[in-house]
Amino acid sequence: MQITDLQIPNYERVASAHEADYRGFVAIHSTKLGPAVGGTRFWRYASDEAAIEDLLRLARGMTYKNALAGIPFGGGKSIILRPGGEFDREKIFRAHARFVNIFGGHYITAEDVGTNPDDMAIVRQETKHVAGLHGLSGDPSPFTARGVFRAMQAAAKYRWGADSLSGKTIALQGGGNVGYHLAANLHQVQARLIVSDVDSGKVSRLVNEFGVNAVAPEEIYSVDADIYAPCALGGTINDDTIPQFKVEIIVGGANNQLLEERHGDELQRQGILYTPDYAANAGGIINGCRELLSWEPSQSLAKVDEIYDTVLAIFDTATAAGIPTYKAADRLAEKRLEE
Ligand code: NAD
Repeated sequence: MQITDLQIPNYERVASAHEADYRGFVAIHSTKLGPAVGGTRFWRYASDEAAIEDLLRLARGMTYKNALAGIPFGGGKSIILRPGGEFDREKIFRAHARFVNIFGGHYITAEDVGTNPDDMAIVRQETKHVAGLHGLSGDPSPFTARGVFRAMQAAAKYRWGADSLSGKTIALQGGGNVGYHLAANLHQVQARLIVSDVDSGKVSRLVNEFGVNAVAPEEIYSVDADIYAPCALGGTINDDTIPQFKVEIIVGGANNQLLEERHGDELQRQGILYTPDYAANAGGIINGCRELLSWEPSQSLAKVDEIYDTVLAIFDTATAAGIPTYKAADRLAEKRLEE
């Protein structure tokens, strides 16, 4: 395997590896709080530069997410470039695992976009520095959804003085793993749901199980609702959508919800309370502590529920300093890193 170190300022180590069909990248942003934990993305990119840009952003994001969640992990991430045409999936993931081994436990991998527990089972055959295995911490999405629900309650408390979501209307984008479980939580407390998904099967399931109202994908931004909950892809808060929003709060499970940071500034100007994504969606990685740190399920659930207090602390910091909430979240995470 041919390994090349890339010199990237402010990252502890970034390297690429190449062996036959396998081409992978690992970035360790920080191990200040513990080994860097972050999933493996299996994806096709327009160029190596685009892959590295994504890798660096995601690795840094994990440092902030883990620090803010108060768990003893640093931030890292890896990418495998998905080959075109036919390929041997097992061979590729075995090669990736051997690459992960090079970092001697300073980087621990898991699932991310394009990978699943079966891939991690293959990775486990070559390295012990992997989480997200069958029969261990299991599917993270119910925990992610629980954390988003707690973050939503905190935002409601901050904006409306009470954390009850009963009777509130939530515009939910995406009825996949996280969106489905979030809808279940919200249905249970008698919230009203308006849902969109590009997959009509996902929409039907939510209509049948929870009696939600469905709208076309492009209509979700402009519906009459109290809260917008992005649980599909990133970048849905942008120049096109912000003028459409009628909501007072945004909180959801998707990563990288702000297309650019300036969109967080714009939400502040518009008086829309934005709950920083990595604070709200940390429930999945917290659940991983069952596997990585042998936590009891009750311990990880209690930690997920603490997202409520973390989100309130972000809003307080933002108000006191007169800064947008995304900056306040970064500030709190950096404080934990310094401590
Ligand atoms: P998923 O693939 O199960 O669900 C995403 C859903 O969004 C799919 O049903 C898809 O059809 C739908 N979708 C895609 N484009 C859409 C559009 N334009 N409009 C409406 N719907 C659209 O993924 P997931 O695991 O539920 O993750 C959702 C988001 O949460 C992702 O951004 C992911 O990175 C993030 N996240 C997930 C977890 C987790 O535990 N699964 C943890 C942290 C963050």
